[in-house]
Amino acid sequence: MKTIFHKSNGADGTGLGECELNFKIPENLLRKDLIGLPQLSELEVMRHYKELSDKNFCIEKGFYPLGSCTMKYNPKVNELLASLEGFCNLHPLQEDCDSQGVLELMYNLQESLKILTGMDAVTLQPAAGAHGELTGMMIIKKYFETKGDLKRKKVIIPDSAHGTNPASAKMCGFDIVEVKSNDKGQVDINSLKEILDDTVAGIMMTNPNTLGIFEENVLEISKLMHDNGSLLYYDGANFNAIMGWTNPRLMGFDVVHLNLHKTFSTPHGGGGPGAGPVCVIKDLQEYLPSPVITKENGKYKRDYNIPHSIGKVRSFYGNFGIMVRAYAYILMMGQKLKLASADAVLNANYIKEKLKGTYDLPYDKQCMHEFVLSGEKQHKQGVNTLGIAKRLMDSNCHPPTVYFPLIVHEAIMIEPTESESKAVLDEFINTMLNIAKEIETNPEQVLKSPLKTPIKKVDETLAARKPDLTFKE
Ligand SMILES: *Cc1c(COP(=O)(O)O)cnc(C)c1O
Repeated sequence: MKTIFHKSNGADGTGLGECELNFKIPENLLRKDLIGLPQLSELEVMRHYKELSDKNFCIEKGFYPLGSCTMKYNPKVNELLASLEGFCNLHPLQEDCDSQGVLELMYNLQESLKILTGMDAVTLQPAAGAHGELTGMMIIKKYFETKGDLKRKKVIIPDSAHGTNPASAKMCGFDIVEVKSNDKGQVDINSLKEILDDTVAGIMMTNPNTLGIFEENVLEISKLMHDNGSLLYYDGANFNAIMGWTNPRLMGFDVVHLNLHKTFSTPHGGGGPGAGPVCVIKDLQEYLPSPVITKENGKYKRDYNIPHSIGKVRSFYGNFGIMVRAYAYILMMGQKLKLASADAVLNANYIKEKLKGTYDLPYDKQCMHEFVLSGEKQHKQGVNTLGIAKRLMDSNCHPPTVYFPLIVHEAIMIEPTESESKAVLDEFINTMLNIAKEIETNPEQVLKSPLKTPIKKVDETLAARKPDLTFKE
């Protein structure tokens, strides 16, 4: 079979030369044909990969207001620290006495997350947000099993929730009961009361929720749930909105996961390593995955003695490199974490106020770190939300999250984060206003976008169902 290469021009980039062997390779094992590598010089190979990487969009290239993803700036010093020899080359089976430095870092990170969430104990093992959810739901399940309360089979989840919430609860064997949002975009208390009974294990909530709205009745909800003998799970992926201002403990939650790769500055988006630590109240401490990192007489150790542990959820201790980045970020920011959240909220409200006359804003309230517009008006003029997203790509801007949350038609979910300057926000606002104007006057033109990206308009369905990923001559 003839191998086809994207590039090959006859240059010799290998340069290995003849090698001398003092034994003879058997004739039948010797290669008959050329090895079939592309013929390029080293420099040409470098250019090829640079060219490919330039086709990617990333936070270092432009504004990335992807809602519910917190695409903030990830300080480069984090990368330097995570790549220090002692952190990245330590063998995970090394004895505790030889790993005091990394154990100290993990212990300190646990302590920091306890302060930020108000919780009593932490596991750093889960490798992502959804993995943290699964871990948290396993803890809740084991808690009721251990108490002999076997009838609690249901988990309540608001209709605005991230899709991973019902998926995680279901994977644990719970039945999902959806609770409706009211016209303020918040959990409807009366609907909640109607479905509460002694078969309910708990509720999974996000606060601020995925509409970017703070649940004003969260204290009433947590009292209702606790009076019912149920537990409250907090999806902390949106933690960038509240750092240092309030915490899930004050709101009455029992289990929390955080997305270190969102709020605590790890590059993410391509499916790379993440971390979703789970923090719990004292009563749930004995169900955590083992080991947790403890400190005794000034020495750090891995503690496997957790009476009702749900067991391990990840090999070794989780994605340690992500912990280094998060800890560096927390140390670097200190009290300023509070300012980061304040600026994230301010930036979101600024954009919301500038766009709300032009685009529909179904829940017109002060938002937290993000908000959700509806492209309904533009849809009626001939361009749906997908079209708006594609048009944005021609302005060096990553599209916002679209068609989520499901309760908003033609949803456009915008999360600017605290990292962006006013100039960048203004440029984005202008672009969005211009697109709306363009849709009014010349929708056909808008539908041709994107025009400046390496791949132009694709058939969404075909691209998802039958992706064509091979190079053809
Ligand atoms: C991102 C996110 C998750 C899932 O986190 P992953 O790390 O992608 O698994 C869960 N809930 C909410 C609200 C999120 O924004």
